[in-house]
Amino acid sequence: MTDKQKIFIVEDERRIARFLQIELEHEGFETETESNGKRAFEKIAQENFDLVLLDIMLPEMDGIEICRKVRELPDDVPIIMLTAKDDLEDKVTGLDIGANDYMTKPFAVPELLARIRAALRTHAEGNRNDDDQGSNKRLSVKDLVLYPERFEVQVKGDSIELTKKEYSLLEYLVRNKNRVLTRDQILQTVWGYDYIGDTNVVDVYIRYLRAKIEDYIKNKYNVDEKYIHTVRGVGYVIKE
Ligand code: CA
Repeated sequence: MTDKQKIFIVEDERRIARFLQIELEHEGFETETESNGKRAFEKIAQENFDLVLLDIMLPEMDGIEICRKVRELPDDVPIIMLTAKDDLEDKVTGLDIGANDYMTKPFAVPELLARIRAALRTHAEGNRNDDDQGSNKRLSVKDLVLYPERFEVQVKGDSIELTKKEYSLLEYLVRNKNRVLTRDQILQTVWGYDYIGDTNVVDVYIRYLRAKIEDYIKNKYNVDEKYIHTVRGVGYVIKE
């Protein structure tokens, strides 16, 4: 038994894998490396790693598929994707399928170490919050409360029904509360880079959310409470 945290390096470029191994072990981590995607997934499913560094292009099973499959497992091991140079689409897909963070190759070691420590810390805090009946895991703006782990939304204590898209949009706004988000940012994050269609879809869904939150409050309490604000010519912001 060891107290060292174990990092699983999934990378088929031997040179990079070896480099990562040396750097991480120098920092006091224990490491294991794997170059084959399919075997990597099997190991993640069977062994207890504290964190996974996951390359995207791998033989037999790519990093995207590995990440997706790992997220179907009960274990919520932190995953940092190592993406090809400036491949924006990889980044977005990676975060979309449940990676905790991503690094673009080539990366600076101090930055990678900082990201690893941040992911380990967030994971440890998440586990503590689980013990605390998840009370710290909720997100809120005024009388609007989101419970991301069960996709539940409450307005002044009443649960309201949202579609999956409406929920994703609301969560994105709440996580960025008091920050103006452009239609493009919203589209890329909530609908994805491959979305082909009318950008008006954002406005349409904002209307749905306003109806379900602001109109709900208006109808039940006869007060006007504004949550989602339009910033003309820019986008939307949810304000505390
Ligand atoms: Ca590769």
